[in-house]
Amino acid sequence: MGSVSEYFKSLGAGVVSLVKGLQVTGSELVKGKITEYYPEDRNTYKWPERFRAILTLVYDKDGNHKCIACGTCERVCPNGTIHLDTKMVETWDGKKKKKLDKYFYDLGTCTFCDLCVTNCPTDALAFSNDFEQAVFTREKLLKKLNYLPEKEEPKPTPEQIAKLQAEKEAKIAAAKAAAAAKAAAAGAAPAAAPAVNDKLAAAIEKAKQAVADAATPEEKAAAQAKLDKIEAALKAKGAM
Ligand code: SF4
Ligand code: SF4
Repeated sequence: MGSVSEYFKSLGAGVVSLVKGLQVTGSELVKGKITEYYPEDRNTYKWPERFRAILTLVYDKDGNHKCIACGTCERVCPNGTIHLDTKMVETWDGKKKKKLDKYFYDLGTCTFCDLCVTNCPTDALAFSNDFEQAVFTREKLLKKLNYLPEKEEPKPTPEQIAKLQAEKEAKIAAAKAAAAAKAAAAGAAPAAAPAVNDKLAAAIEKAKQAVADAATPEEKAAAQAKLDKIEAALKAKGAM
């Protein structure tokens, strides 16, 4: 008897489960379609903005990009997907500036983590949702993202030229002033010499007097030695 009731119980549970499944199936029949008629609708379908298909270097309408070749994206990429070639150029004011030469991106190793985009300090990168990137060889997945011809360095404005000229002139004037001050200091040094020479001359006179006043030969010899020493010092200074 027990087995008959269990049989009907499980039969009822099976029917309930079947009805639930049919409900799901039936609701899908009346919902809007979510599949796409690709590739027939490739010209009309709007891909979600957040979809990441391939990294791009953003160009403005004048063909300029904002990459300053800082290398941050290359450093933060966990897969070594990005490689930058850079070069140094001279700007109009004579300064050295690092510039992007070639921006390489390997689509085959990118995991679309977005770290490069979010860390770029100039918002030079963005992900395109152009997903049709199928190629026949891996080599073709290596892309050069700076594809437009490089723009020339901007020419200086008249104001910038005038400012640079004024700075140059100020530097020259400062250098001249420093040189004049140095020369004046060097010219002042000999003025101190007479004072020294006067002292030595007085010392000579005193030593001569001591020689003359010497009472004994020993005192005379000692005074003479002192006099010779002073005269030798004076000669060494070129004052005699
Ligand atoms: S982080 Fe941005 S600015 Fe720096 S090298 Fe990469 S793309 Fe260029
Ligand atoms: S999205 Fe991630 S993996 Fe791809 S290039 Fe940027 S940092 Fe590297």
